[in-house]
Order: sequence, then C-alpha cells, then structure tokens
Amino acid sequence: MSKPISGPEIERLIQLLARLPGLGPRSARRGALHLVKKREMLLEPLAQAMKDVAENVKICSCCGNIDTSDPCSICQDPTRDDATLIVVEDVADLWALERAAIAKRCRYHVLGGRLSPLDGIGPDDLNLASLIERVASGRVKELILAVNATIEGQTTAHYITDMISAYNIKVTRLAHGVPVGGELDYLDDGTLAAALKARTLL
Ligand SMILES: [Zn+2]
Repeated sequence: MSKPISGPEIERLIQLLARLPGLGPRSARRGALHLVKKREMLLEPLAQAMKDVAENVKICSCCGNIDTSDPCSICQDPTRDDATLIVVEDVADLWALERAAIAKRCRYHVLGGRLSPLDGIGPDDLNLASLIERVASGRVKELILAVNATIEGQTTAHYITDMISAYNIKVTRLAHGVPVGGELDYLDDGTLAAALKARTLL
C-alpha cells in the first residue's frame, strides 16, 4: 500500500468514496479533492443530505421500495391503481421505470434480488411472501414481471408465475428483442432470436 498523502480524515473520505460502484481509487481521490475544494457549495450540502438520508431512510413494508416514509410515496399515491403491479428485482429498476414515466398509474413490488441457486439465493431470500399477500388481496388484476433478461431473471419469473398460478390474474412480462434505434446487424444471436420469437402483428 502506498503512503497516504493527505490527513487521515481526507484519506478516510477517499477510501469510502472508492467503495461506490463505478469509482476506483483514482476517481475517488479526484472526487474527494473536488469536494474539498467546493466545501461550501458541495461538500457541506452533500454531508447534510447524506445525514438526512441516513437518519430517515426506510424500506417500504408493502412493496420493498426505499424511501423516507413507510409506506413509501408510491404506495401512498392515490392516483395509482392497485390493479397493475409491476414486479422488479431491484429499486434501481423501479427508478428506471419511474424515470421513463411510462408506468405512472402502476404500483410496484421490489423483490430485492433474483433467484440464483449458484449464489445461494433462494425464494426465502426474496420479498415473495408480501407479493403473495398483495396478489391474494384480490385487488391485483395484472402482474407485470419486469425482471432482467438474464437466466436468473427468467428463472425468477417462472417461479413467480408458478407461485401465483392458483390466483386468477393476468401475468405478463416485458418483451425481449430489438432495442429502439437498434440495428439488427449489431445484435447478438440470443437477442435476435428473442426478437423473432416475440414478433408482433402489424
Ligand atoms: Zn411501497
């Protein structure tokens, strides 16, 4: 290990920043320097924002979303309809769908992962019991499985479909295939095959 070049407080800041996804030691060092230089404009408001989040963050007991209230703001939103429930693996997926503003009237259920026997992640590790409860309430008419197009994501989708087969609700999943603006020539074989299989009538 190289010798620290700053005081222990700054070194600690760098070490913590380096743990963020997508940041290595070099970018953490650069980020820390930027923060220190912009102390009033950035460092102090950031420290306060982090403190506020750390003190108030909660996991929604209904859907598994992360928010500062429980139930979360989406579960409390009266303009959303209980009939359409979108199941996602992670809060990041929920945020992506909300950013795209394509599911403004839907509610969500966050699994907190995906089934992965190789990594020792089984059904009990996911937020499935509360999903069954929501389905059993009878208010859900369609379950949209917006899981990732990976083997684990699809295994999870199949598991959920089996799990709720006794309930009379429509289960759908996101289409797999050609991305918007994508060129066929650049697609991998799996994506192209999925697109052909999921072709739609014009
Ligand atoms: Zn919620």
